[in-house]
Amino acid sequence: MDPIDLRSDTVTKPTPEMYRAIAEAPLGDDVYSEDPTVNEFEELASEMTGKEAALFIPSGTMGNLVSILAHTHHGDEILVGNDVHIKNSEAGNLSAIGGCIIRILPSNDSGEFILEEVENHIRGDNIHYAPQSLICMENTHLRAGGISQGVEYTRKLADIAHSHGLKLHIDGSRIFNAATALGVDVCDLTIPADSVMFCISKGLCSPVGSVVAGNGDFIQRARRKRKLLGGGMRQAGVLAACGIVSLKVMTKRLHEDHACARKLAYGLCELPGFTVNPEKVITNVVFFEFELDGLDTAAFTEFCREEGILFSHYGGRLCRMVTHWGIEETHIDTVLSIIARIIKKRST
Ligand SMILES: *Cc1c(COP(=O)(O)O)cnc(C)c1O
Repeated sequence: MDPIDLRSDTVTKPTPEMYRAIAEAPLGDDVYSEDPTVNEFEELASEMTGKEAALFIPSGTMGNLVSILAHTHHGDEILVGNDVHIKNSEAGNLSAIGGCIIRILPSNDSGEFILEEVENHIRGDNIHYAPQSLICMENTHLRAGGISQGVEYTRKLADIAHSHGLKLHIDGSRIFNAATALGVDVCDLTIPADSVMFCISKGLCSPVGSVVAGNGDFIQRARRKRKLLGGGMRQAGVLAACGIVSLKVMTKRLHEDHACARKLAYGLCELPGFTVNPEKVITNVVFFEFELDGLDTAAFTEFCREEGILFSHYGGRLCRMVTHWGIEETHIDTVLSIIARIIKKRST
C-alpha cells in the first residue's frame, strides 16, 4: 500500500491537467512582466479576489513578508494574533527583515480577535510608541483548527483598522477552503481587506507558489519588495500554468476534502485515546490529542508511520491530520481501521 500522507495539504502533487498545462504554456521573462501565462494567472487571481492587481510569489512566507514590507515602515508595530503563522512559523522575518515589532491581540477559540478589544490596542500618535500601520488576520485560522473567519467579522475588523488609519492584511493561505466552508465567494472575504496572500501549493495542488492581491499601488510596491527578496522569477509561466488550473478547477472540489476531514474526525473520536471535537472540523484540518496507557504519542505516531499512515506530531499529545486531493473516503476508512488495529495491538 502507498502511504496515506495526512501530514499536510502541501504534499499534493500536480494534477494530470497541470502537467498538460505546463507543456503548453506560452512563456516569457516575468521580471520584464513578459510572461503571458503569469500575466493571465495574475489577472485571474485579481478578478477572483476582487482586487485591482495580483502578484505571483514563490511562497506564502514570502507573500506575507512582501505584503508587510509594502504596508509598513521599518520600526512599525503590527497587530497579530497569538497563534498565527506570521508570528510563529515564518522564521521571525517580520522583525529580522521587516524591522517590525508585534503586538498580540486577544482572540477566542476560533482564532477571531475579540473585536471589542481591538481598539484598546490601537495607540495614538505619541513619540514614545512605535507607529502602528497594519493588522494581520489568518483565514482559515490554522491553529484554531482550520476555522474559517466570516464575512461580517472581516468587514468589522477592516472598519476598525481603517477608522484608525491602519491597513488589514489577510494571511489567506487556505482562504478558498474558508470560502467553501462558508458557502461564499472568496471575494466576499477579501474585498474588505487591503491585501490578501493565498497559496496555490496547498489544497489547490500546484507544485509551487502563492499570490498577493491588493490595489495597484500596493502591488507595485510589492513587486519591488519581491525583487528585493530575490523572488523575481523568469519563465515562471510553467508554474503559473498550474496556478490557473488551481483557480479554475481545484477551488471547486475543496468540499470533498472537508467531507473527508469530518468523516475522519467522527471516526477518530470513537477510538480509545483520542480527544477530538468533530463539530469544530469545518475545513480540511483535524487536530487531535492522543493519550493512552502504555502508548505515548510519539510511539503511536511512529507505529502509524510504519503502517503507512503519516500525520504531524506537534509534541506533547497534539497531532494534526490534513485531507487533500488524492485522499478519498475509502482512504479514511483504511486509516481508521489501521489505527484501531494499532491501538488494540500496542496498548496495554
Ligand atoms: C502554509 C502557510 C503559510 C505559507 O507557507 P509557505 O510554506 O511559505 O508557502 C502562511 N500561513 C499559513 C497559515 C500557512 O498555513
